[in-house]
Amino acid sequence: MYDFISIGALIGMARYICPIAVFLKPMSYFSLIRIKCDKEKCISCGKCKRICPMNVDVTDNSRKRENGTECILCMECVKNCPKNAL
Ligand code: SF4
Ligand code: SF4
Repeated sequence: MYDFISIGALIGMARYICPIAVFLKPMSYFSLIRIKCDKEKCISCGKCKRICPMNVDVTDNSRKRENGTECILCMECVKNCPKNAL
C-alpha cells in the first residue's frame, strides 16, 4: 500500500497527528534557519510550492508566509527551483 504513497505525502499527513508539532510550530516561527527566495532570480513559476510536501509558500520571505511554520527543511524546493532562487 505504501508503494503508492510518496514519502512527502506521509510527512504531510504526519502534521495532523503528531503532538510534538504543537510545541515546534511556535519555535519554527522564530527560527533563524529559513529558506529565502531571491526575488531577482525568481520567475514565479510556482514549482517550489507544487513540490513542497507541506504546502509552504517559500517565495514569500515574510514571517507570515503561508504554512511557514510547517517547513521541515527537506530542501525539495531548493533542489527543484529552475532558477536557483532558493
Ligand atoms: S521554483 Fe524558483 S523560480 Fe519558481 S516560483 Fe519557486 S523560487 Fe521562483
Ligand atoms: S524545505 Fe521542504 S518543507 Fe520547507 S519549503 Fe522547501 S519543500 Fe517545503
